[in-house]
Parts: sequence; structure tokens; C-alpha cells
Amino acid sequence: MLNQRHARIEGALVMIGFGSIGRGVLPLIERHIDFDRSRFTVIEPLADHAHILRDHGIRHLQVALTEENFANVLRSLFPTGQGMIVNLSVDVDSIELMKLAQEMGVQYIDTVVEPWPGFYFGSSLPNADRTNYPLRERVRELGKAYVGGPTAVSCCGANPGMVSWLLKEALLRLASDTGVKADPKGREDWARLMQGLGVKGIHVAERDTQVSAKAKPLGVFVNTWSVDGLLSEGYQPAELGWGTHEKKLPPHGHAFDHGPGYAIWIDRPGADTRVRSWCPDVGPQFGYVITHNEALSIPDYYTVWEGAKAVYRPTCHYAYHPCNDAILSLHEMNGAGKRQPEQHILTAEEIVAGGDDLGVFLYGHAKGAMWYGSRLSCEEARRLAPYQNATGMQVTSAVLAAMVWAAENPNEGFVEADEMDHVRCLEVQRPYLGSIECHYTDWTPIQNRINSFAEDRDDQDPWQFTNFLAV
Ligand code: NAD
Repeated sequence: MLNQRHARIEGALVMIGFGSIGRGVLPLIERHIDFDRSRFTVIEPLADHAHILRDHGIRHLQVALTEENFANVLRSLFPTGQGMIVNLSVDVDSIELMKLAQEMGVQYIDTVVEPWPGFYFGSSLPNADRTNYPLRERVRELGKAYVGGPTAVSCCGANPGMVSWLLKEALLRLASDTGVKADPKGREDWARLMQGLGVKGIHVAERDTQVSAKAKPLGVFVNTWSVDGLLSEGYQPAELGWGTHEKKLPPHGHAFDHGPGYAIWIDRPGADTRVRSWCPDVGPQFGYVITHNEALSIPDYYTVWEGAKAVYRPTCHYAYHPCNDAILSLHEMNGAGKRQPEQHILTAEEIVAGGDDLGVFLYGHAKGAMWYGSRLSCEEARRLAPYQNATGMQVTSAVLAAMVWAAENPNEGFVEADEMDHVRCLEVQRPYLGSIECHYTDWTPIQNRINSFAEDRDDQDPWQFTNFLAV
């Protein structure tokens, strides 16, 4: 399984960004994809890890892509208009790259809808416009112009990405465990299946337990993946898919005044907005409602429409417990009201224990709640492939799966993970996910309090978002 060739990429292969995810993807590409090494280029402005590229015989183009140069740089790498762009950078506008890829006739993959610098910090935009909803709506709108064009996979890492494939497995498992017949073929069938199962909502529930032997120094933001990535999304407003069962908006919650309206936003940073959630390692825990594309794509995909009326939609959001050092880093940063002067990503070698539990937590159905996902230790990740910890491997193996799927399905136009073949993608990814587990629990967000205090609580329906929200 770890040496199986899955696909071939014809033409040029260009990876943009050689950070923690780019470095981790490289050995997986080499293992599972056939490509022309003389036409593999990595665009990365920093030289910090250039030796890895030298060792692997991959060309390093040391340049930062900008609004001014990106089209020329990329056109020069695809003279015959054949190949694939894998965008794993920060600060490079995904939508511009997607348009260019369509013009050049090459496949494209990214893990997030990234804008040019200036959107996440120091923006003059109102908060409603600094959310992911308008970014995703722009991608979806643009996609309508390229139906049947070169495949462009938007937002496909672990989450957004893999969790959409796990959600489909989870629904089939829940159907089987509750005696419901299920053979969904397309979007509408999947949405009706979720509706029929009575799922009220989904957390993308993650617990990162990876620790280093060295205590986090004051003034350093420590994380297990991109600090820039976490802070960019963490200081956008909190955002979530808004289910049809919800009775009232949370404090500072707002609906969007344009588009299909499958989401709401909260006027506070996601990295300072906590919800009660659940993961198998620890059981009940706090997670942050950090905005993510899957919190938008999943409720959109699973909406059941009757004419123009959405009669069913699940609530959906990220409930992220990052590694302990990142929790401490956020606490320090929120207290100071400014970023630490230094940042550090823990490597697989520095991590002495722990792993990452990343899955979907489906609640409100006949069996109460179910967590379904990947439980991968850092130790296992180290054994499986170099240059990455457990968090990285859940992302890089999803990027690999997306590359294979795009190579096998080259003319699908714009797609998100929900629209891809989850069986094929998980087949490629599964060897890198540790143990895929299903856990049922009778936990609800109105259980367990240390003394009772005033709270906005709905005892009639434990699955209201206001019960999850911890203010
Ligand atoms: P990282 O910060 O480690 O690396 C990003 C790289 O981009 C850096 O090496 C940086 O030098 C490079 N870069 C910066 N500006 C650039 C420019 N103008 N042109 C080209 N390269 C540039 O980040 P990472 O952990 O590797 O994450 C990469 C991306 O993947 C981020 O956008 C992150 O949000 C995303 N991500 C998605 C998921 C998911 O599950 N969907 C998970 C992790 C990361």
C-alpha cells in the first residue's frame, strides 16, 4: 500500500509553497505518482529547506509570487499547457490562480481559498466581508464559467477536504447501525439521507495532543502547522453553517444579506470563540469555531430544497482544540492584543508524545452523537513518511488523494471535496490515517457543569447552537 503507484501526471508539475505541508507532500508524491522529474518545480521564496529539494533533485524557483508576476512565472513553467499546479502557499490568491489554470489548461489543487496579503490583517473591509462566505461564493460563481474545464480542486487538505469524505462514510455507518437503507448516488440523495437520519449538526471535531519536551517560551507562537495559516483564519470572524433546526442567532450573530444564505457569522474572532464539543481521546472538550470552507460547503451540499425553500440543512462548524502550546500561544496573544515576535512549527522529531484526532461529530440523530474520524499518533506518522507530524500527514495524504483524483478525472471544472469520489480518495489516503474509528456517545452540550451559573440554555433541544457556545 505504501509503495502503490496511483496515477501519472503528464506535463509539468508545479508546487507553490514549500512550508510544512509542501515538505510533507513531496515524499508522498514521489511514492505514489509518476511524473517527469525534470519538469517538477517548487516555487518558494525562502531558502530554509532548499537542501531537501536539492537532495530530491527537484528544481527550486526562489521567488515570491505577487499580483504582478504570478501569471508570467506560471506561464513560463507550462509552455505546452499540460500539467498540474499544487498550491500550498500562503499569501497567493487562489482565485487568480484558478482562473489562470483554466486559461492555461492545467489542473489545479489548493487547501484553502487564500487571498493576496491585506485581506486577513489591516483590512478596511467590514467584518461580514472578511469571512469565508464571500470568498467561497466567488469561487462557486466563477466555477459556473468553467463547467467541464480542467479540474480545479478547491480547499482539499484534511479540513477542509478529507472530513467531507469521512462524513459520507459516517453517514453510511450511521444508516447501517440504525437499520436505514442507504444507497446515495448524488448530492440530493446524500442530503436526503442526512435529513432522514435526523442529523441536526456536525462538528469538525479535532484534538491535537502533540507535545514537545521543551516548554513553550514566552513570546513565541508555537503550533504543529502553519502559524500564519492558523492566525489568518483564527482572526477572521467565527463562521458556521446554519441549520434549519436552529431557533435563534447567537449573541453578535449575523445572517449574510446575499447569496444562498447557508451560513452565519459571529462578530468576534474564531480563535477566541469556544464551543463545547467531543473527541474520543478526552471526551467533552472546548474547541474554537475557526472559520473554514467545510463549515460552508457541507451545509450547502446537504441542504434539502423544496422549490426555493431550504427545508433541511445541518449546522456545521469547526470545533478545534489545537495542540497545548498553540492554546497557550493564543491565550498569550489574545491577552497582549498583539502577535508574538517569533513563531515555531513543531517538527515530528521535536514531538515526544501525542497525535491528532480529526473527525466529524454528528449529533441529534437516533443514537445521540457519533464521532467518526482519523486517530493518528505522531510516532506512527514518523514511521510512515519523513518531514511531518500527525497533523501534517492528515493534510498531505489528502492533498495526495486530490492529486490522484484530479489526474484520473482531468475535466471536472471547479470542485470541492464533497463533490469528489470519497471512496477513491479515502482508498488513496487511508494508509496514512492511522486508525479510522467510530465512537458513539450519550454526551450533550448541556451535561457537566462545575457549579451552575447563568447561561443561555435550551433544555428542550440540547442540540441548539447556543447550548454549544461557551461565552
Ligand atoms: P507554512 O507557513 O509552513 O508554509 C507556507 C509557505 O508559503 C512558506 O514556505 C512561505 O514561504 C510560502 N509563501 C509565502 N508567500 C509566498 C508567495 N508569495 N509565493 C510563494 N510562496 C509563498 O504553511 P503550511 O502549514 O505549509 O500550510 C500551507 C497552506 O495550507 C496554508 O494556506 C494553510 O492554511 C493550508 N492548510 C490547509 C489545511 C487543510 O486541512 N485544508 C491544513 C493545513 C494547512
